Amino acid sequence: MSSHPQGNHHLSNRALLWRLLQLARPHLGWMLLGALLTLITTLASIGLLAISGWFLASMAVAGLAGVTFNYFTPAGVIRFLAIVRTAGRYGERLVTHNATLKLLSELRLWCYQRLEPLAPARLQGLHSGDLLNRLQNDIDRLDSLYLRIAVPVLVAALGVPGLLWLISRYDPQLVPVLLAGLLSVGVLIPLWGQRQSKQYSQTLLRQSAALRSAQLDTLSGMRELLIYGADQRQQQHCQQLSDSLLACQSERDRISAVTQAVSLIAINLTVLAGLWWLIPQIASGARPPVELAMLTLLLLAGFELVQPLPLALELLPETLAAARRLFRLTDQPPVRPEPGIPATVPVRSDLQIRDLSFSYPATRNRPASLPVLQNLNLQLNQGDCLALIGPSGAGKSTLTQLLCGFWPIESGQMLLGSTDINQLAGDELRRQIAVVSQRPYLFSTTLEENLRMARPDASREQLDRACQQAGLLAFVQSLPDGYQTWLGEQGQGLSGGQARRLAIARALLQEAPLLILDEPTEGLDRQTEQALIKNLQPLLASRTTLLISHRPALLQLADQICILRDGKVVRQGQHQTLIQHSTYYQNLLTVFH
Ligand code: ATP
Repeated sequence: MSSHPQGNHHLSNRALLWRLLQLARPHLGWMLLGALLTLITTLASIGLLAISGWFLASMAVAGLAGVTFNYFTPAGVIRFLAIVRTAGRYGERLVTHNATLKLLSELRLWCYQRLEPLAPARLQGLHSGDLLNRLQNDIDRLDSLYLRIAVPVLVAALGVPGLLWLISRYDPQLVPVLLAGLLSVGVLIPLWGQRQSKQYSQTLLRQSAALRSAQLDTLSGMRELLIYGADQRQQQHCQQLSDSLLACQSERDRISAVTQAVSLIAINLTVLAGLWWLIPQIASGARPPVELAMLTLLLLAGFELVQPLPLALELLPETLAAARRLFRLTDQPPVRPEPGIPATVPVRSDLQIRDLSFSYPATRNRPASLPVLQNLNLQLNQGDCLALIGPSGAGKSTLTQLLCGFWPIESGQMLLGSTDINQLAGDELRRQIAVVSQRPYLFSTTLEENLRMARPDASREQLDRACQQAGLLAFVQSLPDGYQTWLGEQGQGLSGGQARRLAIARALLQEAPLLILDEPTEGLDRQTEQALIKNLQPLLASRTTLLISHRPALLQLADQICILRDGKVVRQGQHQTLIQHSTYYQNLLTVFH
């Protein structure tokens, strides 16, 4: 699929439509076939009504006059049109829905592929509910573009001239009457309704996004809401949002009902005008009486061609807005541009950080921060363990995120072996690094699936070994379903310590040369911590480890300890050196003793 530069939200509507068309190109054949079938079905339906009118009138006239009438041909035509209409409708549904589903699944995949390299940096500031809203609703809206906008417009654009031509063959005077009716019902009245409801449509979009976010917050934060007794307030907040959404919806529905009623009046007026014109001609004998029913029904049935247009007009601005919002999200440049020719995987895993500076970019809700890292220099040799300590907010976790390529580096360099990590392909870089983050995410699936995330082809022995090393195996074996135990949302079925050990087992399973442990023993009691440290000790010997922790027991594993403050290294040395020279370190040991 094509890639486009940033700033497409400034695209004109026509350019936006063109871009959507480009995205839909692989399915254009099916889409056109669907439109053609819809046109054939609609024309068959109109023809059926008109010919039936003519046939019945002819039969009646023939009966009254007592003359014989060849009814085989028209009856055959009627049967044929009825079959075309039924089969056509079936085929049309099949083809258009097939095309839509294909288009949607492709769009979702395309969108996900574009979003993945943006996370988390470019998605920061978007509430997850808002993001979900965009991914789900905005993409769903794009499906209207074909089914409810493009097909009806195409059918009307081809069908209306055809119908007008047919009518003109019988009576050219009826052409302006029908044209005026079709224009009013298909375009003018819906546009008028749209203008009336414009403000409500925009508010509705905003309000439904706000309600969804609030509902997501309520569900995710239910525990906190109950603990702080804020559940009633949150409920009221959701209720208010829901009430205003409903009020807005009912106002929009009211306008829509008025629009529909006016359209119905316009249809009837068109038919009445036709009758008013035709009846005197028939009375005077200028026109055969059998044409009255046919032409009147043709006028009435002709509206089938424009009936879906009001919805198309209503959906068009929403769909374009959805497309614009989606492109605005996906067109952002990736956080970490992939190197043209990626470097080969470094043989060694020494980590060198040179003059690294970084500040988080400003977002809608947060002004630009002061530099989080300032000319940071660090050296971690292969097989060594470097511990990072420092007050909260010193930038320790930020450093791990930069190492994983989640944020663009402002200035400076990070070398793995002798390769700049920017020269490595993103996936390859992340294969070199196993991370136990401060808040490891556990997926709502089985324990085994959570482990296999790091290594899908891991054998049972490898799973057992990783769990053994993380001190989790006994727990897994005590579970009735073992590895197949369902963890629930965000690992709800586990204690904080078990979740952390699972995250450690997952990282160990990955067997990456560089291991980052961010507060790995947080939430573990001393005994479990000691057991884990005993297990980790031999493992760290074969890996290069960056350890973020304040726990003295864990710090003993480190070859070097580095104190970070305000994004700078303020002191570095071995345990013994720091005990003698760093008051911060001395205090830390006292506090945690
Ligand atoms: P702790 O020991 O409490 O985990 P830390 O040393 O790991 O702290 P970081 O998480 O790296 O600190 O945060 C460093 C600074 O960057 C903090 O001031 C924090 O508010 C800010 N910060 C962290 N994440 C973001 C973000 N996504 N956007 C903006 N600022 C952030």
